[in-house]
Order: sequence, then C-alpha cells, then structure tokens
Amino acid sequence: MHPSVSALVEDWTQRTGIALSAEEIIRKRCQQTIEFGKQLGMTGPPYNPAVLASCLGIQIEPSEMDMDRDALLIPRSDGGLLLRFNPRRPQSRINFTLCHEIVHTFFPDAYTQVHARGPENTPCPVELLCDLGAAELLMPREDFLQLQSAHGSGLRSVAPLSRSFGASREPVIRRLAALATRPSAAIFLRLGLRKEEQNHPESASPRLRIHHFEAGSSFPSFIPINKSSPEDSCVYRALRDPIRGSIHTGTQEGWNLPRPMQMNVEAMNLQTAEDDPSPTVAALLLPA
Ligand SMILES: [Zn+2]
Repeated sequence: MHPSVSALVEDWTQRTGIALSAEEIIRKRCQQTIEFGKQLGMTGPPYNPAVLASCLGIQIEPSEMDMDRDALLIPRSDGGLLLRFNPRRPQSRINFTLCHEIVHTFFPDAYTQVHARGPENTPCPVELLCDLGAAELLMPREDFLQLQSAHGSGLRSVAPLSRSFGASREPVIRRLAALATRPSAAIFLRLGLRKEEQNHPESASPRLRIHHFEAGSSFPSFIPINKSSPEDSCVYRALRDPIRGSIHTGTQEGWNLPRPMQMNVEAMNLQTAEDDPSPTVAALLLPA
C-alpha cells in the first residue's frame, strides 16, 4: 500500500476503532466535512469550495504569478496549510481542484510536504483517492441523486447538473456512472493508434480509443484502456458534430460486453476549444 494511504487508514482506525477501506474513509470524511461546513452556515448546491476550505481553517489565495500547475498545498510555519491556486483556469476546474486539495489535507502527511496538482502528475493511489473525494465534496451523493432525478437520466442531465454544482462536464459524467442504480459506465475516448501502428503512423488511420473508464459498482465488465470503439459507434458522430454538447445515441454497438447484456450508448463531444489537438468524446453505456 502507498505509505500516504496506509498513514490515512492507520490514522482513521486509531481515532475511530472502525476498520474501513481507504475509499470508504475518504467518502466518510467528505460527508463529515460537508456536514461540518453546513453547521457553520455553508449552503449549496453549488457548494463553494473556498468557503469549505476556510471552514476547515485552510488559508486560500489565488497565485499572483503565472503557475504551470493548478494548485499548491503548502505547510505553513504555524502548523496550518496554505492553498494557492491558479486563477487563470475555468471556474469549474478551479472548483474541482480546490476540492481535490482539501481531500489531500485528510492525509496525515499533507502537513509535512508541499503538494502540487498539475498536468504532469501521474495517477497514483493518493491522486485517485483525492479525485474520488473531490467528486464527493463538489457533488455530494444525496444532492446529486435528488437533482439528477429532477433533470432526467443520461447525458441530457449533464448541462443542468454542471450548472447546479459548478462542476465541469467530465466529473459530472463520471458521477452519473458511479451513482447509477442500474449497471452503467462512463467512457472517455480520444483519437489514437494501436501500439503496433505507432511506429508507422503514416499508413494508419487513428480511431477513437478508450482513454479512461469509470463504471458503477454493478457494471459487469471492464473495457481496457486503448481499446478502439466499434466503427459504427455513435461516438464518431459525436466527434464530427460541430455543435458541442449535442447528444448522439446508438444501440447494439459491438463493445464486446458479456451477453445477454444489451446497452444503449449516448455520446457527447467534450472539446472545449476549436484548436484542442486531442478532443475527448464521452460516452455513457446504459442498460437497454
Ligand atoms: Zn493531488
């Protein structure tokens, strides 16, 4: 186990005497944190992560200087923490970043080392737990399920849910899959080549391939990273659609899911800028 994760589990077990997995501890700590913020007068959704940080005594400030990272968590000499963030990012991304950094403070070693969040961070167990917790803080389960039932299921609820929680579309789509009551998965795809083709890119044509994947606990299958999407999939229609945020649907697509599983597919292009060199297409796999 990663040393920071074992320190988290040990700290929790010592304080509560209750044995939980690291994921369960993070979820529990996030619920307690939201409750604590509400007791101090925080309202939402949307929950303001800057207010939440100040409820926890974390000093927070935008960086005056250009930052190549999203945020820095710096231990202060008085034993507290300073969270410095990059204000030149979209607000929804800042919100997620602040929540991610708040979750870092649940780890006992947050107070002894500088922590940076940026594009070069490779996924490690601590980062994955902080992303899991960031979704819990920004879009608490009960609020999310309540608003989702008002906005309807599937990708059409993404835009109103993003607005309601001040969250980007990608974490909302992940949350839709993770909290779905029926087996569902969210997949995020980018154009790319097979490993063997990467040495001879001139003779190969890129396909939309799995970049990352999030499934609800009851989803019975795993779709490997870099797997290509079926040629007739609606994800290609979403990729070519010049109107961002349009939803394309497909049925009976060949994603090699175990039979007799019948899935409907909904896809949306998440490209944010015209010159984005690697647009991401998101798809939800929903039971038919
Ligand atoms: Zn981090």
